[in-house]
Amino acid sequence: MERLILIKYGELTTKKENRKMFIKLLANNIKSLLSDYNFNMVYDRVRMYITCDDEDIDSIASKLSKIFGIHSVVICHKTNNDTNEIKEKISEILKKETFKTFKVETKRADKRFEISSMDFNNVIGGHVLRNFDCKVDVHNPDLRIHIEIRPEGTFIYLNEIAGSGGYPVGVQGKGLLMLSGGIDSPVAGYLALKRGIDIDCLYFEAPPHTSVEAKNKVIKLADIINEYSGNIKVHVVPFTKIQEEIYKNCPSDYNITIMRRMMYRIAEKYAKKIKAHAIINGESVGQVASQTLTSMYVINSVTNMPVIRPVACMDKLEIIDISNKIGTYETSILPFEDCCTIFLPRHPVINPNLDKCIKYENSFDYESLIDETINNIEVVSNLKGEDFSSIL
Ligand code: ATP
Ligand code: MG
Repeated sequence: MERLILIKYGELTTKKENRKMFIKLLANNIKSLLSDYNFNMVYDRVRMYITCDDEDIDSIASKLSKIFGIHSVVICHKTNNDTNEIKEKISEILKKETFKTFKVETKRADKRFEISSMDFNNVIGGHVLRNFDCKVDVHNPDLRIHIEIRPEGTFIYLNEIAGSGGYPVGVQGKGLLMLSGGIDSPVAGYLALKRGIDIDCLYFEAPPHTSVEAKNKVIKLADIINEYSGNIKVHVVPFTKIQEEIYKNCPSDYNITIMRRMMYRIAEKYAKKIKAHAIINGESVGQVASQTLTSMYVINSVTNMPVIRPVACMDKLEIIDISNKIGTYETSILPFEDCCTIFLPRHPVINPNLDKCIKYENSFDYESLIDETINNIEVVSNLKGEDFSSIL
């Protein structure tokens, strides 16, 4: 009899009124994630089943464990609701396992099945004891044998693979992630995806002061977090002119503050253009001069759009932990320059003054420069199409 994958939904099951939409979105996300495979999917409001070629089952299960909106992924064996068939299947499964103690956990969702869950635990427990050299341990068994008797058949499995939790990507609409080549912003993107926000990335480059390697590094980072989405594009902002104007017209200690105000202005305008409803970034309170609360206040005051900062209150080590877990760390620490670092003044202002910012900014026509810049944004939608050989 066949093996198949059973998916148990995550947090979405608590939101009754949205449930249908959540599940449909999850199903669509899974379909696009698995587009390279041959598979079949059926689902209802409680769970989802995927059948596929047996040799693909492990790699599909591991891909699924990354997608948001899933509580757990289970590779299970299906039989008919027949005691003898179930016993046979369990013997076959247990032959491949080493264990000294076990516990049977039956759930009988099909009440037409004549034996109660408790009694069935005993029936199967007795069968296992007779055929294998082992004991029952109900508290801390080496092996849990899960049996679910449902109208559509009996599902037998041993282990659950933990899913990534969260909400299906897209359930919260779209956000625009300011993605630099650092450690923090890819982590911020991952955390936003986990809350169900569909993200697109905005990267500010300043050629020739920043290199094509720096840009490819950012695209590579986007590609890594795209494993949790499948839908990410990178929008590359040609930021050189604006930066040079700032450099020419504003006092150096205000360069970074004003540069970041320009970034926010562009992010907000562009977000509206691509129908995103929030800006997301990797700012973390206190990390650098532009991330003191006064700086954040002065910088943030150019926009009314929600700015989500998923790592705002995390320690750097906590951020690095997540970055390692999601696989972005090694790429993030590659040594390529960011447009911020190139123009970094020796003494950036830590407590900027809003009126001064406005005065300095009015010394050049930034609004038309912003419009021109937005018109020249380049969209990279095929992340895998990039050649990363130069950075690896
Ligand atoms: P990161 O590690 O993410 O680069 P950081 O600690 O270096 O963060 P900053 O360089 O001050 O901090 O940037 C703060 C945030 O601003 C970044 O996390 C990112 O969201 C955004 N940002 C900075 N530089 C760029 C850029 N060139 N393009 C897009 N976003 C940027
Ligand atoms: Mg940075």
